[in-house]
Amino acid sequence: MKKVLHYINGKSDPGHGEREGFVFNPSTGEKLYPCAYADSATVDAAVSVAAEAGKAWKSMSHARRIEVIYKFRQIVLENTHELAVLIGVEHGKTIDDAKGEIARAVESIEFATNEPHLSKGEYSRNVGGGIDVFSTREALGVVGCIAPFNFPVMVPLMMATMAIACGNSVVLKPSEKVPSSAIKLGELLKDAGLPDGVWNVVNGDREAVDAMLEHPGIAAVSFVGSTPIGEYIYQKGSQYNKRVMSFTGGKNHMIVMPDADLEAAANAFVSAGYGSASQRCMAISLLIPVGEETASKLIELIVPKIKELKVGSYDTPHADFGAVISQQSKDMAEKALEDAIAAGAKILVDGRGVEVKGKKGGFYIGPSLLDGITTDMDFYKKEVFAPVRGVLRASSLDHAIEITNTHEYGNGAVIYTRDGYSASKFGELVEAGMIGINVPVPVPAGYHNFGGLRRSKFGDGHLFGPDAVRFYTKIKTFSQRWPGSAESSIYSINFPS
Ligand code: NAD
Repeated sequence: MKKVLHYINGKSDPGHGEREGFVFNPSTGEKLYPCAYADSATVDAAVSVAAEAGKAWKSMSHARRIEVIYKFRQIVLENTHELAVLIGVEHGKTIDDAKGEIARAVESIEFATNEPHLSKGEYSRNVGGGIDVFSTREALGVVGCIAPFNFPVMVPLMMATMAIACGNSVVLKPSEKVPSSAIKLGELLKDAGLPDGVWNVVNGDREAVDAMLEHPGIAAVSFVGSTPIGEYIYQKGSQYNKRVMSFTGGKNHMIVMPDADLEAAANAFVSAGYGSASQRCMAISLLIPVGEETASKLIELIVPKIKELKVGSYDTPHADFGAVISQQSKDMAEKALEDAIAAGAKILVDGRGVEVKGKKGGFYIGPSLLDGITTDMDFYKKEVFAPVRGVLRASSLDHAIEITNTHEYGNGAVIYTRDGYSASKFGELVEAGMIGINVPVPVPAGYHNFGGLRRSKFGDGHLFGPDAVRFYTKIKTFSQRWPGSAESSIYSINFPS
């Protein structure tokens, strides 16, 4: 039987640990194959290899490093279908959705080719006494990346492509639920000319993560995943003197004003709310219509659209979305729905018990919608990472903004309106890292900064965009003078005034 191993020094590596877990096919519920879980000795081996390989990699010219990134972009495009199937099998998302994920990953690769421009330093000539001051940005060394299950290709590439473009080497720990794509990416990078040891993958769970956080050879850690784990990683990584950026959970609100194009808003809610079985950190979770009339009209438009959505296996042609990642995830979503009903919410569309022909054991839950959500309900407070969405009615724009800002998460927030004043007031007052105005999923283009606020992000820096270069480099500032021999005597030991 196939077993997923680690990928160290440009080849498959069994590691040293005894522990392993199983990878599932969410579309059928079947166990696919075991996956090796790294222990601290395996992490240590990967870090040593990365540190050694990183010495030559970081001293290569920018042009030579970027040549690899260019080639990698082309190779990823050529392998899009194979990668999409790999994602579909282990994650459950449809092939078309997986291809969309890869297209966004390619944006990050393209942006990483700008590294020579973005990592340029600063220069001031003759700040006084013939002294020139300049700064350079240099690679940090070995960088650790810890990724979630929901974007097995996009998130690792968003984190690690810029890291390697800047001259770092990487030890990546993908989610143990979707371990194969990261290894495939390592093979494609090797084909693109990346020296062995610059991209390493260790599989596993908390044991591997703790070994990374504690390892003195890892200079920085970027994390994407849930809030409790992201907070832990930020705190522990900082305790071990690492630079940490941690992007975490979301509960994104979509406010719809009475003046909005309601048909457009309804379509946007359905696609942004249920795409990828709602397993996106930027998915719309809560619909906030302003006013009772807006709520009634919107619900009338949305309910039939939701009922038309087709749930299927990752390879079912024309399926709108697939299974959720695990039986546990399905159970948690159904419990969240049941608890909300018990707390007073009304079910408008019930996706429990949905069946996909020929895929009896798959982790499916159909699109579900609850009305009457209130801010005291757990359903409002918690992220539900499955296609169960809610409607929370607001009485005014101020009320809707207050509801949005009260939530502990501040990843994305969206308004649908035709009124410029409402839009600008929302933009000014809402506390979210990424804001959509008549745009339902405001994930910025790859050359803008990505990141949430409040408990949707810990630490400094942004996942991608120009800020990522600042995260993955350290600054050295030089003060330099080349005096002639007559000027070189010491004439005062005081600070110059
Ligand atoms: P997760 O937090 O369970 O896992 C993320 C990573 O942490 C995985 O590699 C996992 O192996 C590791 N991990 C899990 N438990 C751990 C523990 N106890 N100690 C140390 N490491 C541990 O998240 P997930 O379920 O894989 O992904 C879904 C979550 O990710 C959602 O909350 C979603 O909102 C979030 N997410 C956020 C963003 C963003 O940019 N803000 C993007 C994508 C996903």
